[in-house]
Amino acid sequence: MKLRIGIPRSLAYFVFFPFWKTFFRSLDMEVVISPATSKGVLDSGVKEAVADACVPIKLFHGHVLELKEQVDYIFLPRLVSINKEDTVTFCPKFLGLPDLIRATLPNLPPLIDEKVDLQKGPWEIYRLCVRIGRVLGKSPWASLLACRKGRAAQQQYEKIIWQLKVTPAEALQMVEKYQVLPPAAEEEYQLSFAVLGFPYTINDRFISVDMVKKLRQLGVRVLTAEMVPRQNLLAQARKLPKNLFWHFSNQVMRAAMYFMDEKVDGIIHVTAFGCGPDAMVNKMIELEAKARGKIPFMNITIDEHTGEAGVLTRLEAFVDMLKLRRGMI
Ligand code: SF4
Repeated sequence: MKLRIGIPRSLAYFVFFPFWKTFFRSLDMEVVISPATSKGVLDSGVKEAVADACVPIKLFHGHVLELKEQVDYIFLPRLVSINKEDTVTFCPKFLGLPDLIRATLPNLPPLIDEKVDLQKGPWEIYRLCVRIGRVLGKSPWASLLACRKGRAAQQQYEKIIWQLKVTPAEALQMVEKYQVLPPAAEEEYQLSFAVLGFPYTINDRFISVDMVKKLRQLGVRVLTAEMVPRQNLLAQARKLPKNLFWHFSNQVMRAAMYFMDEKVDGIIHVTAFGCGPDAMVNKMIELEAKARGKIPFMNITIDEHTGEAGVLTRLEAFVDMLKLRRGMI
């Protein structure tokens, strides 16, 4: 029987899942993903996590619990850095996530918590894969081949997002189900908004109360940070006096500047309650939007109590205000 490895459908899942799914399947393992977020998953995470954790971390606990009885291993890498180009790291909660999970959730299957620190050079990804393969009893050669296949799958996934301008959640659906979603015709949209935030908040339909779909129903074309090719984000980085410390904060700030250059109609920054990095990035985007001639900007903070009706009311008000301003209504 194949060994079963569990991947929580949360946090880095929305960034790297195609890579790791392909890697583990190439090593003849069965990949089990936790179910899509529901009230039950969120409630069980909130119950077990430390009270002052941000909502994505609480939710992650719920996803790990869903996998607990189903798998031989849980994949929970310690994410330090994934960019060779700049020296930023993931936020401290990512760095300490394996320790946090071990401390709060007893009796879990073994965690695969190898450190991912790609600043160490171009070969580090291969060394990492060999280390993980060794834990699973696989040969270095098999791990290297699996790594190569994983990289190809990841490139394909990122290309789908950049070229088709779909969200990571939609690209994952295409990759998983071998199904191409029909792109919405440009003329269906009256406005274009950059919807920026962490991939694990915007792409989780439950925690984001399906904000992307709601905006589209209101006639808004939704653009996210992942749709900006990496070289364009790096070009924006050169305009900033310095890098922020954290990976996703940099991605959001750079994408905000890129979309301001592209003259989107508005920017929505989706922040997570209890997130330290978000508090600073939110203010920076707001000030930059004002400095560039009052680009309409709105912040929506989500937490475990976020209600669908409240978010919808704010989205409708923001969209109506912009349509009114442009003489569309
Ligand atoms: S960046 Fe913010 S939301 Fe994400 S894990 Fe860290 S504290 Fe939580």
